Amino acid sequence: MPTTFNPATTSRAADVIARCQSLVRFSEDASSLRRTFLSAPMRDCHNAIAEWLRPLNITPTIDAAGNLRAIYSAATSDAPRLLIGSHIDTVPNAGAFDGPLGVLLGIALLEQLDGQRLPFAIELIAFSEEEGVRFSTPFIGSCAVVGSYDEDFLNRRDANGISIRKAIQDFGLDPAQLPAAQLGDDVLGYVEFHIEQGPVLESLSLPLAAVEAIVGQTRLALTFVGQANHAGTTPMNARHDALSAAAEWIVAVESESNRFAGLVATVGSIQAYPGAANVVPGEVRLTLDVRHKSDQVRTQAVQRLASLAQQLAARRAIKANFAIFLNQPAVAMDSFLIAQVESAIRAAGCPPYRMPSGAGHDAMILASRVPSAMIFVRTPGGISHDPAESVLLEDVACAIDCGGNLLKQLAASPEFLLSLNASSSWQRTDTPRG
Ligand SMILES: [Zn+2]
Repeated sequence: MPTTFNPATTSRAADVIARCQSLVRFSEDASSLRRTFLSAPMRDCHNAIAEWLRPLNITPTIDAAGNLRAIYSAATSDAPRLLIGSHIDTVPNAGAFDGPLGVLLGIALLEQLDGQRLPFAIELIAFSEEEGVRFSTPFIGSCAVVGSYDEDFLNRRDANGISIRKAIQDFGLDPAQLPAAQLGDDVLGYVEFHIEQGPVLESLSLPLAAVEAIVGQTRLALTFVGQANHAGTTPMNARHDALSAAAEWIVAVESESNRFAGLVATVGSIQAYPGAANVVPGEVRLTLDVRHKSDQVRTQAVQRLASLAQQLAARRAIKANFAIFLNQPAVAMDSFLIAQVESAIRAAGCPPYRMPSGAGHDAMILASRVPSAMIFVRTPGGISHDPAESVLLEDVACAIDCGGNLLKQLAASPEFLLSLNASSSWQRTDTPRG
């Protein structure tokens, strides 16, 4: 791993970190960071990004979904484009780097080009919404860009009864212009830098990783139905205790999941009824969230855990009922771009590493439309969605080197530059538009 970087790269990395930190002041909450879809602080954020782009002679636009879009032009006016981006909305009590790091690294890469023109334009996108906080609907910005929305989507309401459509109007934008926000057929790919938000890279002492896939998820609701009864008069051997059954099953979920590499399963919510100290619990409702990069491993794990619940319920003469409420397949990143990212990491002097993403990202939505890649940046302590979220200066410098190498490699790759002709007919027929 490089111990020293070019001083210009280190100084650029320090700028990226300082800029991410400076965006923290644009918040809906006085003492912590919360910046949701098309809130007033989002406009301040747009203005700050526009100021950083001004020395590059780039004037960004805001599309009808509130995404900031900025074009660094190519050597020729009819050239295709590469997208680089991430999101600038946040969760409540957020850190400075989840999302903005990918946008600010994109700007740093444009600065680093120092006016050099590539055979493709670079479109920087700062997505307006990824976290799903305001409308309980994530990826509003990226869904608009790939054209994956409908009337029902635009009519969803926030806690104050304001629809997505109305929020767009209130920000001074025109929902009728949403079709114009969609990507054209001239996009070569999408690259997103993002903090890992987990402990893996830190445990391996690695600064960066190429993301191979965004894991699939199954979520289900499970109910154990036993018999509520008097806690004093019902002997232990005459009980049908739903909570004891749930406890046994939760421990089994943990031990079963440990047997399969990369499988994660979580019981994140539990309610016992009637919920009194002197009543044997008659009913327990839980949720189960299972994730893996392989859809087959995930589906089999869900079946195994469901059948375990039924077996232990039968042994206790109670019932176990399931309802699946989310079944989302894994999304693979583009294999050509993964290999290019690995080369770029290696050329930056770091050992390449591939890993899945356990969290959803804009790249997952973009991948439905264009070849997509993600690069994870080590997250100290694995801490994210918290003000303590941080990055290391040397890792950000490494990310800048990696990004510069990637642009160089792609600009010199006939396979990449000609890929549009091979895939454009697929893009036109496979994605609903308008
Ligand atoms: Zn994020």
